[in-house]
Amino acid sequence: MSDLLERLRGRGWRLTSQRRVVVEVLDGDHVHLTADEVHARAAHRLPEIARATVYNTLGELVSTGEVAEVSVQGRVKRFDPNAHHPHQHLVCTERGTVRDVRATGRPADLPPQERFGFVVSAVEVTYRGLCPACAAGTGRAQP
Ligand SMILES: [Zn+2]
Ligand SMILES: [Zn+2]
Repeated sequence: MSDLLERLRGRGWRLTSQRRVVVEVLDGDHVHLTADEVHARAAHRLPEIARATVYNTLGELVSTGEVAEVSVQGRVKRFDPNAHHPHQHLVCTERGTVRDVRATGRPADLPPQERFGFVVSAVEVTYRGLCPACAAGTGRAQP
């Protein structure tokens, strides 16, 4: 369970009503929204919210380290509130659906002879495939 709002309160982050809506839209499990999706959902709750406010708020959240940027398959970048819970991603190659998975992604898994002298601190693993709808052939409209 994501606890973004609580983490931000804990660090005394200034929560205006606009920033709060952005955080609420972003909070949750398996949430990987693009900036435009965050804006659309935020505007649904707070119609006067400006795109620039959403973008600035996302930028601030990323710079505090409370939200992670994720880019999957070179698609547009997405925002992930689970920045403090190490996890890997499962991606549908048809729709770009992203799920969080708890999978081993440990620096120790890289053999010493493959490290080229690097001190490895983090690992990103992306599992690709078809989500259940796409695998069942119902993911795309028939041509
Ligand atoms: Zn994630
Ligand atoms: Zn799919």
